[in-house]
Amino acid sequence: MPDASPWKRVLLKCSGEALMGDGAFGIDFAALERIAGDIAEVAASGVQVGVVVGGGNLFRGVRTAASGMDRPSADSLGMLATVMNGLALADALKRGGTDAVSMSAIPMPTVCPSYTRRDAMAALAAGQVVISTGGTGNPFFTTDTAAALRAAELGCDLLAKGTQVDGVYSADPKKDPSATRFDRLSHGEVLRRGLEVMDTAAIALTRENHIPVMVFDLHQQGGFAAALTGRGLSTTITDD
Ligand code: UDP
Repeated sequence: MPDASPWKRVLLKCSGEALMGDGAFGIDFAALERIAGDIAEVAASGVQVGVVVGGGNLFRGVRTAASGMDRPSADSLGMLATVMNGLALADALKRGGTDAVSMSAIPMPTVCPSYTRRDAMAALAAGQVVISTGGTGNPFFTTDTAAALRAAELGCDLLAKGTQVDGVYSADPKKDPSATRFDRLSHGEVLRRGLEVMDTAAIALTRENHIPVMVFDLHQQGGFAAALTGRGLSTTITDD
């Protein structure tokens, strides 16, 4: 990473869908390796990196509940999906030579360490990439909210939300060609305009804790480092 990142400790939200690559379900190993490489690039530059990984490539509670399953059970499937993704991402990072640990908010000690703030803080300080899985550990939440929660409790100075587009647009740019991209927004504007960046709980949590949110394209190789150093396009959401 040629330029220095102004951010010292960053929480990356990586959706499950990003791990799908061009597929329709599951983990695409080429996409997994590429994203692990992008995270490794940032970690190697000295930025401490926490990651919250989603599970939408495997299960989404709301969608599964729509088929008749009760919502808390469906959400448990979703949270377990994030654990699988986190284990795969930690493995890809380690194979690439980057020290990483995947910690689950749902204790499963024979599979991976349980998430505790204390252990996560220690691992970040030691330079490990810390992947927080299992969401918040509670149904009726999303991994966006889990990302905001971890960013707040781990003292991250930025929540970097990796998406399929290079920022926040006035409308869905895939459906509306006249949609324009915002360079900057405030948390309040996102809530007032109902912009679909993250769910309301996640935006509210970042606003209360004065954590900027940077929305960038995680599908571009090197997009994470480019966004952090201001070389790539992104939208930054800051205090009102
Ligand atoms: N989930 C949950 N509680 C949490 C986080 C996630 O119950 O704190 C469940 C929920 O069912 C969600 C699924 O896990 O649909 C996968 O997470 P998400 O949809 O946020 O993943 P992403 O869209 O980022 O891939």
